[in-house]
Amino acid sequence: MNLFHSAILSSLPLVPRSLLRRVAGRYIAGETREGLLRVVKRLHSEGLRTTVDVLGENVASPEEAQRATEEYLRVIQEISGTGDSPEVSVKLSLLGLRLDERLALEHLLQVTQKAASSKVGVFLDMEDTSTTDATLRIYRYAHAGFPRIGIAIQACLHRSLKDVLELLALRPAIRVCKGIYNEAETVALKDRRAIRENYMKIVALVANGDGYLAMATHDSWLVDRCQELLRSRRVGPESYEFQMLLGVGEALRSQILRASSPLRLYCPYGPDWYAYSLRRLKENPRMAGYILKNLFTGAVLDRGHLDP
Ligand SMILES: Cc1cc2nc3c(=O)[nH]c(=O)nc-3n(C[C@H](O)[C@H](O)[C@H](O)COP(=O)(O)OP(=O)(O)OC[C@H]3O[C@@H](n4cnc5c(N)ncnc54)[C@H](O)[C@@H]3O)c2cc1C
Repeated sequence: MNLFHSAILSSLPLVPRSLLRRVAGRYIAGETREGLLRVVKRLHSEGLRTTVDVLGENVASPEEAQRATEEYLRVIQEISGTGDSPEVSVKLSLLGLRLDERLALEHLLQVTQKAASSKVGVFLDMEDTSTTDATLRIYRYAHAGFPRIGIAIQACLHRSLKDVLELLALRPAIRVCKGIYNEAETVALKDRRAIRENYMKIVALVANGDGYLAMATHDSWLVDRCQELLRSRRVGPESYEFQMLLGVGEALRSQILRASSPLRLYCPYGPDWYAYSLRRLKENPRMAGYILKNLFTGAVLDRGHLDP
């Protein structure tokens, strides 16, 4: 970490809540389900798909995990029937993974059961490497009863190609992302070019299989390479989509839609937005850099989706 990043991190606790609210407002769909639904419906009317994420992670008690699960059940009910292929994204640590793997699985099965009866998709986010094995185990178990479930795979990890190879027999839905967590060099690639190369290897592997390919990135270089690959392999739009975060890369968003490629936006919501935003910034100083850039380019003046 360089001096600039260290300076950003040490000053984060001093960032006033009101300022962070204005910055986070672009990336968070709302503090409440009502706010979320307004945003989701608007995005659907613009031809976008959405995946809804209940904000939070690493709960400290089974009761908190149960509350988060119940929130998922409610939001699944409310997004059911809206837009094209409504979906939720789930962090297993919010459902209790760090307390007890079995508890997280039980909670996830409640979520997938509700999703199945509501015709809503479910995707598992991939968290830091201390949770990768457990996430893959739980994915396989849940997939047996709910084949529509998907899983995120991080292109920065040395292990990911092998993980994907082992998953292919399930005809899985895989979200390929670079990976947001700061991992050790022993487990993760650090070079930007190497991560891009690995990203494309994983994309090619999934495109060759019978699964569903979700390419999550705002890197226009990668989007162009993915489009070329999809064209050359004649992958139809029923088998793939691009994914981006709400509030990020809006020019690229229009480019993807102009090419008639399906695009899904990741829409986090919930009262935990402040802690979530601070944690994200601490984990990823590069993201703090983007935010600072936004501060100076005036994006901070856009109040975004959070209520005043
Ligand atoms: C839909 C979706 C789901 C994801 N799920 C996971 C997951 O489950 N596990 C995981 O580890 N990671 C996940 N990520 C994060 C991902 O791994 C990357 O950290 C993130 O997308 C940045 O990588 P990039 O491919 O966009 O390329 P980068 O080169 O990092 O970014 C390209 C450009 O996009 C802009 N940008 C990127 N991210 C941001 C941001 N947060 N705020 C503002 N501008 C930004 C910048 O202008 C940057 O120059 C997800 C990302 C998306 C889009």
